[in-house]
Amino acid sequence: MRVWVGIDDTDSRKGMCTTYIALLAMERLKRVAKVLGLPRLIRLNPTIPFKTRGNGAVSFLLETEDLKETVDIVSEVILEFAELEDDRTNPGVVFVEDEMLPKLSNFADRTIKDVVTIDDALFIINKYRIPYLKFKKGRGLIGALASVGAELYDYTLELLVYRYPEKFGKIREYDRESFFDIDYELYPEVFDTVDWCNDVVVAVPSSPCPVLYGLRGESTEALYKAMSIARTEKFEKYQIFVTNHATDMHIVDGGKVESIKNYRSYKIRGTVVKDPYDIAGGHVFFEIETKFGVFKCAAFEPTKQFRNVVRKLMTGDVVEVYGSMKNDTINLEKIKLIELVKKVALNPRCKCGKRMESVGKNKGFRCKRCKTFSLEKEIVEINRDIELGFYEVPPSARRHLTKPLIRMGEKHVFR
Ligand code: ATP
Repeated sequence: MRVWVGIDDTDSRKGMCTTYIALLAMERLKRVAKVLGLPRLIRLNPTIPFKTRGNGAVSFLLETEDLKETVDIVSEVILEFAELEDDRTNPGVVFVEDEMLPKLSNFADRTIKDVVTIDDALFIINKYRIPYLKFKKGRGLIGALASVGAELYDYTLELLVYRYPEKFGKIREYDRESFFDIDYELYPEVFDTVDWCNDVVVAVPSSPCPVLYGLRGESTEALYKAMSIARTEKFEKYQIFVTNHATDMHIVDGGKVESIKNYRSYKIRGTVVKDPYDIAGGHVFFEIETKFGVFKCAAFEPTKQFRNVVRKLMTGDVVEVYGSMKNDTINLEKIKLIELVKKVALNPRCKCGKRMESVGKNKGFRCKRCKTFSLEKEIVEINRDIELGFYEVPPSARRHLTKPLIRMGEKHVFR
């Protein structure tokens, strides 16, 4: 029989990684099963507060005649390696027959875009009598089911390279230049490896997890080529995963829904009604009016030079924003400038060169010095120093799920 194994919520901020645990399980399962194809790393709703880091869950397909032994082996791996002593780690595993997959796609789509409960997952598990393993609260059942059920209309690949266990938690040894070389040679077939503008190697994480580096790409060939260029400490193993990274699968089209909620991600069109302003810490905000009302949009400090684009917006500009809604604020991932205000109404200029002052509401304008008077404001053309089109946050601030402009066939502008 063909069985999909879905695993989630095995790691903590102190260590481990669900992809690594899945790999260990795949290795041990060789005794009773054959792994078919590539495993999948599916990113779920990026706003979920329970997440450790990137809200990822893993699934892989097995050919096996021994389901009982399969379940026992996976259970053994979770008990041995999951960060079970951490309160926030609540593993879940499901074993789903291949033909059952279409029944899970709707749940998976909700888990990527929306907020679901453990009971929602258990309802499906009971309805379709899906064998499962639940540790502690078993919240991981949500991600486990979703990683099996997600239908990928678009996908990318991720090559994850893992350290020797004795290196976990220690400083990663790697040659920064070699990662810039990868980007120079293989972009955009391999993308988001480095952030040139901010001088950051994005592919190398800083958490204490087993991953030495991760490379994103469109083909296995390009990823293996990239791996041959990377110069790092010796590594223990590597694996390519099929993923929904860089696909915008989390984004709900605001044009197609009646309301918007916190903890979901949207693409929404609106008109700027409050000019951008900075607050302490370097975060930039502005407000837009949309069919859902007025709300704030934010470009936080880590989005770096993207904030320079946002700072140039003006009341009256028409934009389409992409990002997650939290605290009634859209956390910007990218923005499309659709219409830019090109003319503004200013107090009329007097023949002496100075701008007149308002006499009172609807009472016209007067030059204090010359006593000249005018009723009308003057319409003045302005130079915006910004173009229509898409702008995105730099790779160092990019969410796993966010589709980079290069994958959207859009012009690539760095500011
Ligand atoms: P890592 O990326 O390092 O594997 P993580 O960031 O994936 O860690 P988890 O430890 O898996 O974080 O925790 C996320 C938890 O949230 C999981 O239990 C998962 O089942 C649950 N979850 C995922 N998506 C949703 C959702 N849409 N609604 C409710 N719970 C969710």
